[in-house]
Amino acid sequence: MAKRIQFSKNGGPEVLEYVDHTPAEPGPQQVRVSNKAIGLNYIDTYFRGGLYPVPALPSGLGTEAAGVVDAIGSEVTGFKVGDRVAYAGGPLGAYSELHVLPAASLVHLPGSVSFEQAAAVMLKGLTVQYLFRQTYELQPDEIVLFHAAAGGVGSIACQWARALGVRLIGTVSSAEKAARAKQLGAWETIDYSHEDVAKRVLELTGGKKCPVVYDGVGKDTWETSLDCVEPRGLLVSFGNASGAVSGVNLGILSQKGSLYVTRPTLATYAVGPALQAMADELFELIASGKLVVDISQRYPLAEAAKAQTELSARRTMGSTILLP
Ligand code: NDP
Repeated sequence: MAKRIQFSKNGGPEVLEYVDHTPAEPGPQQVRVSNKAIGLNYIDTYFRGGLYPVPALPSGLGTEAAGVVDAIGSEVTGFKVGDRVAYAGGPLGAYSELHVLPAASLVHLPGSVSFEQAAAVMLKGLTVQYLFRQTYELQPDEIVLFHAAAGGVGSIACQWARALGVRLIGTVSSAEKAARAKQLGAWETIDYSHEDVAKRVLELTGGKKCPVVYDGVGKDTWETSLDCVEPRGLLVSFGNASGAVSGVNLGILSQKGSLYVTRPTLATYAVGPALQAMADELFELIASGKLVVDISQRYPLAEAAKAQTELSARRTMGSTILLP
């Protein structure tokens, strides 16, 4: 018997229940992980609220954690009981003391990265890895726009951009968040609660706009983001913090300058051997001191609902972790 968070209907944070749960024995290719620290991510609120469907109710929640291998299936070769591991994918259910998932979802965690650090950066850091190094390969001195720059993904993006010599313009909703983003490596910040983002981007780029804009806010920033992309540039729309972008008239891409748009997800990038390679790049950035893990909020697992309330209310900065 172990504790986990589950929900039996979609709704606000109040639908989350902290319950006793008996995890299954691992199947042939599966591993059971004893979670030591769990990552909180915006996607967890999409599953809880119903924006993203779940296979069945009641459902576990969460896709990111770090811990120790507790049991392995008969065909698992790459992992053994006692290994330190981390994951940022697989079936929902990471908000738990024990979680069963495919061995293919796990990476080996080096001794230099703590369980808490790994839970804080696996999903968000792998996301920045593919956004900056695969979806678009950023080059030194390029000027890019990144929304919600003081958030979980944003805090890592600011530091990674600095490490690459990229000038990141970060949007934020308060002076406190602007200061945090700047401290982490943002070249400039724009407070989108009262500044005209497109106008400021034109000024900061000498009228050129950006070759790539990263938008995890979604609905509220969609049009503004398009206005900040240079002709034939790329808008990477990778999240829905303000709601999903829908009903897009493709003609708008020609009107704004033959733009490209992609709507990527980590699950398409972090698969097979690429997963460990992406994680190793992330862990090396931490080991080199170029990426300092920013855990600004910690909650007991039992208080996951409170943690999600804070995230949705825009009251968090950096990463939030849950401790079983
Ligand atoms: P954050 O910590 O960045 O929290 C979301 C932030 O979005 C808030 O802090 C807030 O920052 C900003 N925001 C703007 N408008 C709203 C609004 N109406 N309601 C709430 N927040 C708003 O979350 P994460 O780091 O977990 O995720 C950031 C985004 O990246 C999410 O959209 C998430 O879904 C996406 N994502 C996508 C992945 C992918 O592969 N596609 C993988 C990982 C994350 P501020 O107050 O400064 O505006």
